[in-house]
Amino acid sequence: MNKPDTPVASNFIRNIIDDDLAANKNDGRVVTRFPPEPNGYLHIGHAKSICLNFGIAAQYNGQCNLRFDDTNPVKENEEFVNAIKADVEWLGFEWDNLKHASDYFDELYNFAVELIKQGKAYVESSSAEEMREMRGTLTEPGTESPYRNRSVEENLDLFARMKAGEFDDGEHVLRAKIDMASGNINMRDPTLYRIRKVDHVRTGKTWSIYPMYDYTHCLSDAMENITHSLCTLEFEDHRPLYDWVLDELKTPAHPQQIEFARLSLEYTILSKRNLIQLVEDKHVTGWDDPRMPTITGIRRRGYTPAAIRDFCDRIGITKNDAWIEMAVLETCIRDDLNEHSPRRMAVIDPIKVVITDLPDGYTETLSFANHPQNEAFGRRDIAFTKEIMIDADDFSENPPPKYQRLVPGGEVRLRGSYVIKCEEVIKNDAGDIVELRCTHDPATLGKKPEGRKVKGVVHWVSATEGVTAEVRLYDRLFNIENPASANTLEDALNPQSMVIHKQCCIEASLADAKPEERFQFERLGYFVADRFEHTNATPVFNRTVTLRDTWAK
Ligand code: ATP
Ligand code: MG
Repeated sequence: MNKPDTPVASNFIRNIIDDDLAANKNDGRVVTRFPPEPNGYLHIGHAKSICLNFGIAAQYNGQCNLRFDDTNPVKENEEFVNAIKADVEWLGFEWDNLKHASDYFDELYNFAVELIKQGKAYVESSSAEEMREMRGTLTEPGTESPYRNRSVEENLDLFARMKAGEFDDGEHVLRAKIDMASGNINMRDPTLYRIRKVDHVRTGKTWSIYPMYDYTHCLSDAMENITHSLCTLEFEDHRPLYDWVLDELKTPAHPQQIEFARLSLEYTILSKRNLIQLVEDKHVTGWDDPRMPTITGIRRRGYTPAAIRDFCDRIGITKNDAWIEMAVLETCIRDDLNEHSPRRMAVIDPIKVVITDLPDGYTETLSFANHPQNEAFGRRDIAFTKEIMIDADDFSENPPPKYQRLVPGGEVRLRGSYVIKCEEVIKNDAGDIVELRCTHDPATLGKKPEGRKVKGVVHWVSATEGVTAEVRLYDRLFNIENPASANTLEDALNPQSMVIHKQCCIEASLADAKPEERFQFERLGYFVADRFEHTNATPVFNRTVTLRDTWAK
């Protein structure tokens, strides 16, 4: 289901698959999987893996499974499972089969018994601390456990009793018997099973032991007849173990593990552990806070699935870890929204302008194009009235040099309407501006003013016809490129990442927006009606992205 608007870029993984197909490996089948652990919400890094796995399946007329790697019941739950499914679908992908590692718990147990019978696995009864000491280091070999040479019968008996729940957490584990002197620490008799007396969402109380990731993953891949098991580079050192398990057990299928660089995005953290911390410490409003790099967060922020797929395509797939600039992601969403979102006018921080030379109650209907480059978006009517709102930013009593907006005694064009001149600034006792009294030049509707140049153009909304809305201006959550390099995540937070304006004045037509409908607010950026809190009676809009990169160095 690669979308027609997402071109397929070549990469080293596609080259491997092309070669495999040319050699008729796997009988010409291509089967991939996306294997999230349901211990958190998916983030933009996962989107890279999703686009790769599902994209490859679509390109080669193959299949892609969604498989929940649900082997750690302590951290996993149904909320995460449902959120992950919704995110994958929202991104535009359909899985061929929905699987769970827990579907294979019986088979995995039987395979472990098989390894024990072959003398390739044993029950370890040392403490975690003792096991750590025996493991050795990168430069020193490990030492063999005193339990390593238990008889097959004793191992079978102990493993069956581990399964039956006779022991407590940590009393025993099952280990593969490989090589304690291996240069690869993952091969120094890795743990295959540990005791966890915890109920599992899907298997309930059936199990007291749960298989480890490395053991589960390769066997799940093999049982699903996965051909290419694509994972991130940190699993490169685990590949010998992946292959060892499948070779020792002589599984009918032996998928090929291929590693690629994970996504690291500037000004963001992409690790569930840190994202959970942000939620728990209430630095954000939840997993779906529009500042979160989660799929649900960026969805609420107003990103489109097409922009995320385009982003994954533009960054490509390589073997080298690299930081991707936030500007790359933002360019993708600007390009998409520029093309696809209708234009509207909204005033974030309103000042009232009274056009004194119009009669009381004056209303004139002006017609506006909804998109400057695309007539198919049609037109809409906007009421021009005696009282309008402009943004406080668009007026200055003490303008800086080259200021082209409204100043006392100066003129400015109201977008799609008349040129007005500021005749008087009205303030309250506290000295705050409460109103600008202006006159208008009736000869300037759709025409240049006679005999003078008026350069500035400002957006506006009728004060009487416009609607009050809440607008949330979001920016990057962190203000340093690598937030993980700060002493604490808190130190790296951008205090301006969310600025809420509750008394905005928006075009009347925007009140009819549906949740998740997207617009360009002219001169301000791209905005989306909030997925959860926007209603026609109380509109709430989120800023997705500014029109231009305001962070460029
Ligand atoms: P985290 O480090 O955030 O906890 P994880 O790798 O533990 O992520 P999983 O649920 O195990 O999360 O990941 C599912 C798949 O997504 C894995 O194949 C993993 O390699 C891939 N993945 C996770 N993070 C990224 C990333 N930043 N870039 C690309 N792929 C990723
Ligand atoms: Mg993981």
